Amino acid sequence: MEEIRLIVDGKRLDGRGFEELRPIKIEAGVLKRADGSCYLEMGKNKVVAAVYGPREVHPKHLEDPSMAIVRYRYSMAPFSVEDRKRPGPDRRSIEISKVSREALEPVIMKELFPRSAIDIFVEVLQADAGSRTACLNAASVALVDAGIPMRGMVTSVAVAKVDGVLVLDPMKEEDYYGEADIPFAFLIRNGKIESITLLQMDGRVTAEELRRALELAKKGAMQIYQLQRDAIMRKYIREEEVVE
Ligand code: ADP
Repeated sequence: MEEIRLIVDGKRLDGRGFEELRPIKIEAGVLKRADGSCYLEMGKNKVVAAVYGPREVHPKHLEDPSMAIVRYRYSMAPFSVEDRKRPGPDRRSIEISKVSREALEPVIMKELFPRSAIDIFVEVLQADAGSRTACLNAASVALVDAGIPMRGMVTSVAVAKVDGVLVLDPMKEEDYYGEADIPFAFLIRNGKIESITLLQMDGRVTAEELRRALELAKKGAMQIYQLQRDAIMRKYIREEEVVE
């Protein structure tokens, strides 16, 4: 196979520096029928999140008398990737749904809503690596938009190792041809990273590289966190203007 160089003259293929995020765009409250929603772009990823609840649990037997149940469904549109993706759940989307739900559950104050459900749907309209991280960022904003009481915000970003160096927020070529891909999610509370709620890895790095990857991901997450907050503030300002 022809060797693919991902770093040329100290720059990545899309011109970014190693520690640079892709351009991010976030808009809260884009869907009328959902209790909370968010549209988010992270580079070429385009995703929508919709949150419903707290609401009655169906089927009833899933109810928990002591707290709300949280459900998360990650799904990719058939037109979201180059080769058409077969519609419907597959192993990958089931796995992403599970780890993403687990990444969000610690921030949701489930104990306030016994016998109810909080349903989070994320739809990937266009994917370009890191779609799980884009969806988590959107879901977190949609949860706040829905008025669900939260302990903080979840912010997610990946770090990859490509051509021997660590890079923030890998795009598709870096994910495909790189040596490792490490998505993270953090619980950010009062403007500080409090814990890691998702950490996955494929590929191979040294323990020291993993430590550096964590630091790099934290830096990226703090930037994304500001954009998540800005999006929520913009939504509230819009609502106030409508009321007046
Ligand atoms: P993530 O999107 O969270 O990085 P993966 O690492 O599994 O998740 O996928 C990386 C990228 O590979 C996706 O963002 C998408 O661009 C592409 N991809 C994933 N699944 C498919 C598929 N079924 N067909 C074509 N491309 C896919």
